[in-house]
Amino acid sequence: MTKAAAIRFIAAFLTAGSLWLAWTQQRKGGQPRPAELAIDKIADDLYVIIGGGGNIGVLVTEEGVALVDDKFDRDVENILAKVKSVTDRPVRYVVNTHHHGDHSGGNAKLLAQAEIVMHKNARANVLKNSQPGASRLTYAKEASLYLGGKEIRVMHFGRAHTNGDSVIYFPHRKVIHTGDMFIRGAPFIDYANGGSALAWDRTISQVLQLDFDTVIPGHGPVGKRTDIAKWRADYELFRTRFRAIKRSGKSAEEIQAEISFEGMTGWNWSRLLLRSLPGLYEEL
Ligand SMILES: [Zn+2]
Repeated sequence: MTKAAAIRFIAAFLTAGSLWLAWTQQRKGGQPRPAELAIDKIADDLYVIIGGGGNIGVLVTEEGVALVDDKFDRDVENILAKVKSVTDRPVRYVVNTHHHGDHSGGNAKLLAQAEIVMHKNARANVLKNSQPGASRLTYAKEASLYLGGKEIRVMHFGRAHTNGDSVIYFPHRKVIHTGDMFIRGAPFIDYANGGSALAWDRTISQVLQLDFDTVIPGHGPVGKRTDIAKWRADYELFRTRFRAIKRSGKSAEEIQAEISFEGMTGWNWSRLLLRSLPGLYEEL
């Protein structure tokens, strides 16, 4: 083999190798594909888009559509197709429940056509974490958006999942969207972005003062007021048990081994609750 032929051989080998690597990474989820999405009706003008990232609330009006959250960047095309399956009107507003990429990942694409609203702390978290899609609008305590004569009330009650959580309230339908402030099963307390297991309770207590019947959680099936009330009670139980074990002088690992989830709906040491463990140990 001449020197040139040898170089060509090695180059071809390396190219094949890198293609193979790219292909296996794709297969292993190195570059995940957009998820299958489904749209479910909650009321005549209100839907939820499920699948992929966080649940999306969809309010349809004569003047256009308001979304709560927009999943991942890769989901935008499918989200818009699902919206199109129920209305021809354009998306005019997106409200983000918080900054996490599975709830605000579509922002960068949707900013071209819609006004996006986030709590000011959520926007600060977007910038701090070098995420794309910071909103042009923020609010501090409460804001109301109006579209086609319908109100979309956006409220911040304090720290919980992060320090920039919003609850979105559709008063005319008595429906709220909580983002990850309420999910099915164990929560993730994002301590790096201002989350708090202690404040969480007070925050949910204020949410429960709203006049609503139906709740869209950050992830998992749509529920009723009783579901979020039960979840709050489970959370309190978890904290009480956690503290009791900690006070007996146990380490975080020992608490993890000993704590009981009995009576708590869907709770376990999920990957995200485990990630919260060092912070929980410090806070509780
Ligand atoms: Zn989240």
